Amino acid sequence: MALIVHKYGGTSMGSTERIRNVAKRVAKWARAGHHMIVVPSAMSGETNRLLALAKEVAPAKVDTAYHRELDQLAATGEQASSALLAIALQAEGMASVSYAGWQVAIKTNSAYTKARIESIDDARVRADLAQGKVVIITGFQGVDDGGHITTLGRGGSDTSAVAVAAAMGAKECLIYTDVDGVYTTDPRVVPEARRLNTISFEEMLEMASLGSKVLQIRSVEFAGKYKVPLRVLSSFTPWDIDINEEARSGTLISFEEDENMEQAVVSGIAFNRDEAKISLLGVPDTPGIAYQILGAVAQANIEVDMIIQNLSHEGKTDFSFTVHRNDFARTIDLLKAEVASKLGAKQVVGDAKICKVSIVGIGMRSHVGVASRMFRALSEEGINIQMISTSEIKTSVVIDEKYMELAVRALHKAFDLDQAQA
Ligand code: ADP
Ligand code: ASP
Ligand code: MG
Repeated sequence: MALIVHKYGGTSMGSTERIRNVAKRVAKWARAGHHMIVVPSAMSGETNRLLALAKEVAPAKVDTAYHRELDQLAATGEQASSALLAIALQAEGMASVSYAGWQVAIKTNSAYTKARIESIDDARVRADLAQGKVVIITGFQGVDDGGHITTLGRGGSDTSAVAVAAAMGAKECLIYTDVDGVYTTDPRVVPEARRLNTISFEEMLEMASLGSKVLQIRSVEFAGKYKVPLRVLSSFTPWDIDINEEARSGTLISFEEDENMEQAVVSGIAFNRDEAKISLLGVPDTPGIAYQILGAVAQANIEVDMIIQNLSHEGKTDFSFTVHRNDFARTIDLLKAEVASKLGAKQVVGDAKICKVSIVGIGMRSHVGVASRMFRALSEEGINIQMISTSEIKTSVVIDEKYMELAVRALHKAFDLDQAQA
């Protein structure tokens, strides 16, 4: 008997009919002899609805007490969907029990709205499984040392599922969603995108960190750390399809780079609209400048992504970096108030209407000229590149947001991602 974890996303849990379908699918797996743990998301739109209510009551602010209540509020979405799924399973004749994260307990740190899982107590879950129950554990949430409910950041149910699979030593973690696997890029932007049968763990990690929302980045990190076999597949196939066929469907996140793996130079394209660019113009080009600028930003707990410093001219230089769009106004204010005048900077300017487009592939390690092929494809579309960053298996560019879809389509074509790989 194997222990299997299923995770169902918001769309898959999006109506009572879909919840009944999920119950039928889970019951099929349980009846095939598996111990089953299910981690559901809130019904689609519910997390947004709850968070919008908070904003309606009072404007958002950067404040621990406020963030605590956001988590207390948002966590109810998964509590509701989990209980509904348990009820649906019971109606299918399966013994089932649902738990909120704090009841398990899934212990996290206290970083409200972006907490990290620290440990999972498996005793209660194991006891239920031993009694033949299907155990449902809310996604997206946990509890800190003080007993306060925390949430794991948007898309966090993926991370809950993988963390539970790791803690319980599950044989596999299956992420059921509204697409039938991981594609070369978001199929909603490029209809010609192809589903990959396998993607290497490293590539998936890059895709997720560069904005591909199909898996939350931390879920991939957990899978890598604890070697949890992970598969992304569709919840929209008929629930009664052959279980072996279902178990082979979708995309496997592979830890081995075997020869069966599709050997493309570039495997996928990711994009991210969540960043904003900030530049300090005319700062002195002297030692310690980057530290003085970014040190102040880090002090304010603002994460920085891409950074560039231009060549200096008459002892002055321009310094640019990107932050999350939610931190844009705060960062500009901070630089104007604390940094710009101290450094004698000429101006602080910013642009929130940018996006980052990235190509990802382990084949980039062994091929030259990949980045220049990317730049050529963008130039042929007349798209100006504002910033560039590269690492071993990815190249990212920052461009004007309005060209995002055009850029993604052009790159998808330029790297032949719409063609089946040999
Ligand atoms: P869930 O609610 O099941 O967690 P998400 O909306 O979080 O689903 O993630 C699935 C979505 O991710 C898809 O509907 C798709 O639009 C998007 N997506 C982005 N990049 C990719 C990709 N490379 N492959 C597949 N889907 C992707
Ligand atoms: N419900 C949460 C969200 O919408 C978590 C998740 O779906 O993974 O972000
Ligand atoms: Mg998701």
